[in-house]
This record gives sequence, structure tokens and C-alpha cells, in this order.
Amino acid sequence: MKDIIIVGAGTAGMSAAIYAVRAGKTVLVLEAAAYGGQIINAADVENYPGIKHISGFDFANGLYEQARELGAEFGFEKVEGIENDPETGRKLVRTAKTVHEARAVILATGARNRPLGLPEEKELVGKGISYCATCDGMFYRNKVVAVNGGGNTAVEDAQFLSNVCKKVYIIHRRDEFRADVKEVEKLRQKENVEFLLNSTVTKLHKDEKRLCGITVRNKLGGEEKTVELSGLFIAIGQQPDNAAFSNVVSLDDKGYIIAGEDCDVGNGIFVAGDCRTKTVRQLTTAASDGATAALAACAYI
Ligand SMILES: Cc1cc2nc3c(=O)[nH]c(=O)nc-3n(C[C@H](O)[C@H](O)[C@H](O)COP(=O)(O)OP(=O)(O)OC[C@H]3O[C@@H](n4cnc5c(N)ncnc54)[C@H](O)[C@@H]3O)c2cc1C
Repeated sequence: MKDIIIVGAGTAGMSAAIYAVRAGKTVLVLEAAAYGGQIINAADVENYPGIKHISGFDFANGLYEQARELGAEFGFEKVEGIENDPETGRKLVRTAKTVHEARAVILATGARNRPLGLPEEKELVGKGISYCATCDGMFYRNKVVAVNGGGNTAVEDAQFLSNVCKKVYIIHRRDEFRADVKEVEKLRQKENVEFLLNSTVTKLHKDEKRLCGITVRNKLGGEEKTVELSGLFIAIGQQPDNAAFSNVVSLDDKGYIIAGEDCDVGNGIFVAGDCRTKTVRQLTTAASDGATAALAACAYI
């Protein structure tokens, strides 16, 4: 039995672990994949207050080492469900391996990349389709690639890829970007970047094994063209994955856990980071939620 089980070892979960163990609680962090969460995909982090520059990997590593050295335990198991034992008030946290028990639970499950939903997209992941330019960009050195999306991630991805690839198309369904204007302007200066605006990807083409091209449709004129390329980086936003917890929390129409700034959803369940309803999803807000949720869980216990 632990005082607190934290679901997810991203920035929110590991920040919560640091605060909870420093408050004298026993803590188990359960993580479905590798520790670090989304930020391990970022080559450079330059907006975390007090740190001028750090790679996402080093940032995640620092959090992990700090939490472990303070005494947090980590288990690499996907949490498949949570039940409230009505008699004891204990939380039963179910994974494929076992059922863990805790007096309080912090959900810090983050979010993951949204697919385009095109036929054969899944099958081509790792064979031309990627959701992470920082992770996979180097595989496309000197090749032609496209980035699909209009937010900061898409623009950052296109910038990164323009430094290693022969040519980069950036495909966006509108003519204006949600990304920072300054970053879009920087991208426009790149000679090997071509903007395909008011456009969507409607078809993936493959040869025997890999993606070899895409069909791009202009929404205004309706004309379609084939773009021959080796890689398509999809950066059209993220989706949370909280359906397994809908018996203990309420979800909004996008699947985010409905929770306020106090991170407390009642009955000893707390929520931190990108998985909850909020306007700003960043490292600072994830870390802030982690601290808030951990201290609220300690007070609950
Ligand atoms: C490419 C990229 C670059 C970014 N750059 C910046 C930046 O420069 N500055 C900035 O402030 N922010 C940046 N962000 C955003 C930032 O990474 C996120 O806001 C932050 O990671 C959110 O942290 P989190 O802990 O809430 O969620 P996540 O980082 O998503 O972590 C959630 C963790 O929970 C795990 N998990 C999910 N479900 C389960 C389950 N059922 N059981 C067990 N584990 C589970 C996941 O595997 C994951 O490890 C960037 C994001 C991306 C994708």
C-alpha cells in the first residue's frame, strides 16, 4: 500500500512525485512507456523559467533522477483502471500485471499525438509516417518531407527538418498559422521550405513497403496534386486518453478530465498536467499542477 500512486511519469507526474515524497509520503509512479512524457521529443527547451536552454531528454532525466533520489518508486506498467473501495476508501489501481493500492491517486496521463485518420496511416508509421520530427528527422536526411499542421509544433518541426532535409513542405488547412508569428516568419525565410496553405492531405501513396507520396487538396479551388516525398510528419494536435478512468472522473467532449486549478476532483483523486481541462499546456503549467495536486493529495491523506 502506498500513500499516493501517480499515473504517468511526465513533467506533471514527476513534479507531483517530488512534492509528495518531500512531504514524507510513500509514492509509486506508474508509467506506460518511458519516463519523461512528451518533452523527450523536444530538441530544445528555452521557455522554462530559470533554465536558459536544455534538451527535452535532459529535462526529463533531471526530473526522474530528482524524484528517484528523493525516494519515489517507479513501475513501468500501464494503468488500465481505478476503483474506489467504498469500505476502506482505498484506491485500487489496476495494471495488466497486478492491482496496486493507495490512499490517493494523481492522474497525470498527459496527451498524445492526433492521427490524420487516413487509410494505411497506422501501417505506415515508421515507414514514412512520423509524429515526432525530433525523434525521426535524421532518418530523412537530404530527403523530401512534409509537415502537416499549423501550430507551434508543426512550425518547430518544419524548422528542425529544414536543417536536415533537402526540401520541406508545410501543409496547413488554413492560410494563417496558430503558431508564433515570429517563428512562422523565420520559416518563410528558409529557401528549402514551401508553404501549401488552405490545403489538406487526402491520400497516402506507398510503394511496396514505404510512403512515397501524398495527395494534397487545395480547399479553395478543389484541385489536387501529388507530392512525391519520403516522409510525412503529422503535427495536428493532441488527444488525451482517459476513457479508462471515466468511472472516477468526468471527461469533457475531447476526453480531457474536467478539473479546476485546485487539481482536486474528489474522493481522493487528483489530476495534473495536460490531461486536464486548461488553457495553457506547457511544462511550467504541468509542473505547477504536479505541485498543487501532490500537496492537495497530502492534505487529503
Ligand atoms: C515536440 C514537443 C515540444 C514541446 N516543447 C515544449 C517547450 O519547449 N516548452 C514547454 O513548456 N512545453 C513544451 N511542450 C509541451 C510539454 O511537453 C507538455 O505540456 C508537457 O509534457 C505535459 O506534461 P504532462 O506530464 O502533463 O504530460 P505528458 O508529458 O504527456 O506525460 C504523460 C505521461 O503519462 C503516461 N501515461 C498516459 N496514460 C497512462 C496510463 N494509463 N498508465 C501509465 N502511464 C500513462 C504517458 O506515457 C506519458 O509518459 C512540447 C511538447 C511536444 C510534443
